Amino acid sequence: MSVLVVGSGNVDLVSRVERIPAPGETVLSTGFATHAGGKGNNQATAAARANAHTTFLGSFGDDDNGRRLLTSLTDSGVRPLVRTSTEPTGTALITVAAGGENAIVVNAGANATLTDLTDAERTAVAEADVVLLQLEIPLATVTEAAKAATGTVVLNAAPARPLPRDLLESVDLLIVNEHEAAQLGGAEALLDVVPRLVVTLGAQGAVIHTGDTRTEVPGIPVQVVDTTGAGDTFCGALVARLDEGAALEPSVRFATTAAAVSVGRAGAVPAIPTREEIDDFHR
Ligand code: ADP
Repeated sequence: MSVLVVGSGNVDLVSRVERIPAPGETVLSTGFATHAGGKGNNQATAAARANAHTTFLGSFGDDDNGRRLLTSLTDSGVRPLVRTSTEPTGTALITVAAGGENAIVVNAGANATLTDLTDAERTAVAEADVVLLQLEIPLATVTEAAKAATGTVVLNAAPARPLPRDLLESVDLLIVNEHEAAQLGGAEALLDVVPRLVVTLGAQGAVIHTGDTRTEVPGIPVQVVDTTGAGDTFCGALVARLDEGAALEPSVRFATTAAAVSVGRAGAVPAIPTREEIDDFHR
């Protein structure tokens, strides 16, 4: 069994400040850190740590940030199928104010060059048992991958944007948070096109929609430290269980546990739990 994640990799450059600077203003940072990020990278990491045989297909720059992402992926057990672009590795410049307010500038960089899949890339997509996609790479590539897949196609429609019908028609399972669900026209409209839908509800957990059936999976109460990457952990863990042949509901329960572990810890990638940590949390 195998999972292929096709998506983005970014390096997050995070500055802590007293307040977000106004235009033309310079403020001093009270702390700075860089982290591996990007939804594709995070979700591949989550799937691999949950024990799925995971490949990541993406595009990084020929730079230190790209090498850093490659190391982060391979350290988590992900097999990288990564192009080297002449564009810089994607970055997110994140400013976090003392009150929690933030301002973020994303440069897609190399992620935007992941177009026109090669024969080898199409073969990797076709051979995967589960293909997991998000929307931080060109939409045409997401659609191309969804159509080339022969296994289960899972789309995390984040960040939300209007989706072409031919993409949705190739999706077996759509995962969105409440805001994304609303932006895409609501659960009912989505269920006209996709057979299975999971809507995540933050601390409340998630709702599974299949046909006329609606199943609620409650969230697991935890002391919140940092919710960054909770959705990515959820998606990666969910596909890891699906890939083992589990049904959707137990897979969502497993994902809910994985995401709960991650919100109890700081950062995105560092907070993503291993299979052992997820299983231990259940007991
Ligand atoms: P996103 O991070 O994409 O906005 P959500 O906020 O819905 O998505 O979170 C995704 C999943 O993470 C939820 O379905 C839930 O399982 C888990 N989660 C998020 N916030 C919390 C929380 N405060 N306590 C426990 N679990 C949480």
